[in-house]
Amino acid sequence: MAKLEIYQFPTRSDNYGVLIHDPETGATAAIDAPEADPILAALQDKGWTLSDILITHHHADHTAGIAALKQKTGCTVYGPAREAGLIPGLDVEVKEGDRVEIGNAKGRVIETPGHTRGHVSYYFPEDGAVFVGDTLFSVGCGKLLEGDAPTMWTSLSKLAALPPETEVYCGHEYTDANCRFALTVEPDNEALKARAGEAAENAAQGRPSLPSTIGQELATNPFLRPSSAAIQKRLGMEGQPLDAIFGEVRRRKDRF
Ligand SMILES: [Zn+2]
Repeated sequence: MAKLEIYQFPTRSDNYGVLIHDPETGATAAIDAPEADPILAALQDKGWTLSDILITHHHADHTAGIAALKQKTGCTVYGPAREAGLIPGLDVEVKEGDRVEIGNAKGRVIETPGHTRGHVSYYFPEDGAVFVGDTLFSVGCGKLLEGDAPTMWTSLSKLAALPPETEVYCGHEYTDANCRFALTVEPDNEALKARAGEAAENAAQGRPSLPSTIGQELATNPFLRPSSAAIQKRLGMEGQPLDAIFGEVRRRKDRF
């Protein structure tokens, strides 16, 4: 079976738009709908026709384009059941374990609340890709706007358990700034130092540092590394529960 083609492009101030396309059937989905015009332009560039939108959460910078895209393409909009009332134009409500098919490509819904109460991620195992919205960023994670640290830690743990080669597509690019914070928490992490150098170079050249991979995040992302002895020592939290250590890293980032 042919693999999904994935096209990532910048939109709004710091969002990424992502299109996924099944070459066998022509089905094409947008991951979130930050704004309509750049998505329509990307579709035109690729010669693809929008069939579906997969919404991760209700924030306006992920949903503002829904109405115009539906009107122009007649696409079907999937999104989290727990935020259905907050997402105008939602056609299909999804929850943990639900299947989502984009042509012949098979996705699975992973509930990842914390940034928002009903946030979901979309995982395509046969294509080795996960679309995580604002739950996981490269070397970072979303702010806890509608959830507490244990809730977000549970969500991140589900993503961390995916195969390490899984490509991670995020709603935003903050990798360079995230690395600067991460180095204050784990200054001697060699993989993180290398990632920081690469992210700074990419930022200087105007290149994305995304997609990342689960393996790369496990090695560098302090929000996935509360079990790191170096982080625990740095925070003075040796042996404490992982969700509490995660919460302290998040608090420090909020103040950074
Ligand atoms: Zn958000």
